[in-house]
Amino acid sequence: MPTTVLPMPRRDDPLVPRMAEHATSVFGEMSALAAQVGAINLGQGFPDTDGPQSLKDAAIAAILDGRGNQYPPAHGIPALREAIAEHQRRFYGLAVDPVTEVVVGTGASEVIQSALLALVDDGDEVVMFEPWFDIYGAGISLARGTRVGVPMSGPLLRPDLQALRSAMTERTRVILLNSPHNPTGVVFTQEELAEVARIAIEHDVYVISDEAYEHLWFDDHRHVPIASLPGMHERTVTIGSGGKSFSFTGWKIGWGTGPQDLIAAVRTVRQHLSYVSGGPFQFAMAHGLGLPDEYFTAFRADLQHKRDLLASGLADLGMRVIVPQGTYFVTTDVRPLGFEDGLAFCRELPRRAGVVAIPHSAFCDDRSIGAPYVRWAFCKRPSVLTEALERMQAGLPG
Ligand SMILES: *Cc1c(COP(=O)(O)O)cnc(C)c1O
Repeated sequence: MPTTVLPMPRRDDPLVPRMAEHATSVFGEMSALAAQVGAINLGQGFPDTDGPQSLKDAAIAAILDGRGNQYPPAHGIPALREAIAEHQRRFYGLAVDPVTEVVVGTGASEVIQSALLALVDDGDEVVMFEPWFDIYGAGISLARGTRVGVPMSGPLLRPDLQALRSAMTERTRVILLNSPHNPTGVVFTQEELAEVARIAIEHDVYVISDEAYEHLWFDDHRHVPIASLPGMHERTVTIGSGGKSFSFTGWKIGWGTGPQDLIAAVRTVRQHLSYVSGGPFQFAMAHGLGLPDEYFTAFRADLQHKRDLLASGLADLGMRVIVPQGTYFVTTDVRPLGFEDGLAFCRELPRRAGVVAIPHSAFCDDRSIGAPYVRWAFCKRPSVLTEALERMQAGLPG
């Protein structure tokens, strides 16, 4: 008797259920809207001018002379790992072993997701300040963890440390920290970091510290890595982004540093994701990390100028501006313009004024936390920012 092999029954949607909520995003919706109406896109955070020519030259040289064209070593080329270790020493006084305490990945993003997959197991809780950068939610779902939001609160959106303390449970495995903070632009103070550190130590949890904007702080709001606080090195994976630090977001080189056991865990996962990437760009980033202090100072000054231009312009339009201490982004409260809801505001803005921005609610589980706030990227040429402000002057209720 011939047997018939029946096909496996299929679900209507092939996507695993835990990723369904990550299928669409307000970012996609707003970018599509921007393209549709020819709007100026102040939604997505990438600079519209490239970083230093010397980094381009270094990448091109690594292609032409054949150093960067085949698989680089799994955890990063030695020159880059050494440059990362030297960078952590030079800027923060942190001692990092380039052989065992550094991992290079496809952008900060891959290192963050690898750290989550390496440290978080089924049902473990990851506590993070809300609003949070969108990839964190997806990374926690990939790891089958549970996300726990703790609000950035008050009129200046500072981290609610009492709420952080209350959010800690037996199941808490990781505090996922981000300072300078996207989207609020808050740079955590020494005191705030010290309290986060106390809580992490008391509850004996790991910290994944996303420091993608480490070189983008303004005025005297100097960035301090939480790993430099007493008792924190041994429990912290610190993450940096070459894309953000050198204005080459398309190159996707990022890194993590930390104690050997944590980095070994991250390496174990990460090598099975992209294995390696960006050979020539790794050489370029090694060069970039060694640039003199003047590069970093001038970079900050340029962005601070753009911040001031956009922040003062948005204030002139009648919004309440929360002046950012770091990052690419300024946040405004749109209630003074007569909008209760940032999402509704952002959906109207492209057609009314030919500008795109992102509501904080896109970064929140609890919509009430982000409701009246909108994020605007200022990492754009001054002429673009001015044009955006002029369009809004004409199109918004004044
Ligand atoms: C842009 C960004 C990243 C991702 O950095 P890549 O190096 O481009 O992967 C990570 N964290 C935050 C907060 C960011 O804004």
